[in-house]
Amino acid sequence: PDRDNYLRAHNTRHQFHPMIHPMISADAPPQIITGSEGCYVTDIDGNRLVDGLGGLWNVNVGHNRAEVKQAIVEQMDRISYYSSFAGTATPPSIELSAKICEMAAEEEITKVMFSANGSDAVETALKLARQYWQLEGKPTRTKFLSLKQGYHGVHFGGLSVNGAPYYRNAYEPLLGGCFQVDSPWTYRNPYSEDPEELADAVITQIDRLIQAQGPETVAAFIAEPVQGAGGVIVPPESFWPKLREVLDRYEVLLIADEVVTGFGRSGALFGARGWGVKPDMMCFAKGISSGYVPLGATALNKRVADAWYRGFSPEGIIMHGYTSTGHPVGCAAALACLDIVEREDLPGNAAKMGKRLLDGLTPLAESCSIIGEVRGKGLMVGLDFVSDKKSRTPMDPGKGIVERIASFAREEGAIVRPAGSVIILSPPLVIEEPEIDIIVEALTRACARYDAEQ
Ligand code: PMP
Repeated sequence: PDRDNYLRAHNTRHQFHPMIHPMISADAPPQIITGSEGCYVTDIDGNRLVDGLGGLWNVNVGHNRAEVKQAIVEQMDRISYYSSFAGTATPPSIELSAKICEMAAEEEITKVMFSANGSDAVETALKLARQYWQLEGKPTRTKFLSLKQGYHGVHFGGLSVNGAPYYRNAYEPLLGGCFQVDSPWTYRNPYSEDPEELADAVITQIDRLIQAQGPETVAAFIAEPVQGAGGVIVPPESFWPKLREVLDRYEVLLIADEVVTGFGRSGALFGARGWGVKPDMMCFAKGISSGYVPLGATALNKRVADAWYRGFSPEGIIMHGYTSTGHPVGCAAALACLDIVEREDLPGNAAKMGKRLLDGLTPLAESCSIIGEVRGKGLMVGLDFVSDKKSRTPMDPGKGIVERIASFAREEGAIVRPAGSVIILSPPLVIEEPEIDIIVEALTRACARYDAEQ
């Protein structure tokens, strides 16, 4: 069936199709993706497109990999599910924990708690950060700091530390004691065009905020090593090392939300490692299982994990865990994915192909009338659309122009993601030169088509 027939067949009384999703409405029916291979997807109408967003920053090893499918089926044959709530565990969850500890040995990661999504991984980290301080005898340390433009998921804790108000407004009141500071964003900030001065200005802001709140009340700072959903914001080189330093001065925990950057996307195995920084906790999802199955993980370093192993105390019971915690099929798929990440050096490929993508698209900042900046790190790239290049005023998403360019790009052969005033690119990490060039050409033609219309 073609798309319209298919949707008509699944019509409900109230709308053209029954699925609820913020990006889909009766006026904007979905493109229905029916097949995939490597870096390509096929839609219900038979169009074959390069997957410029890698599912949703997550299909890192590429679509339809035999090794991952085989790991899933073999695990299904052995045991498809058993919980970890009866003093029980399945081999893949034990092996995957050990694998993550091995991959993150440099960060002294010693414990991992599994969940099903990035939002869960963040929620787990926030809860365990508070509990850590209780175990340390400092129960007043409950506050969380984060960056404006940060994105940490959809649960109440994650919402409370998310930067943009539009994520939060409909769901307030949220957690108290959460504070955001300016993102170290070279393109848009009130401080300086100079990256080092900018990094220092934001660090000073963090320092003052911790002092104003009282260090003895602050539990943790959570941030993405490269901000993703907020518009692909790459901090100055020195920001993360300086962040670690200021947090250490006040003993505040650093939680790296590696849901997007984890396992290679930013060009290093972990985003924080790319900046030479060791966080206290890392949140993983997306790339850990490349979207084959849902899986989240929260990794704790020795400093944090050890708090739970100084002998039994009632405060030390972790009242947290999901039915899906340590799901054997999810963990088996993740083991197969991480094996590919290492075997094929996907962080290295992300760095190389990311440079080609960025270099290919950078001329658009000059040639296209409404692109203010093209920026990125590894295979995270953003095209920043502006209504005025001089003032760098973000394009009003309500005008539908960014969506229009994304849909032109789709017609030209690549799926890209319009997110507010930014088009986000995050293709599979296995991508090679010909597919990078298809994305570059599709966007170049899309922008030329827009400019020709004006
Ligand atoms: N953290 C970051 C940095 C993310 O980008 C996302 C998802 N885009 C999340 C958390 C939430 O992950 P999920 O959608 O799997 O709940």
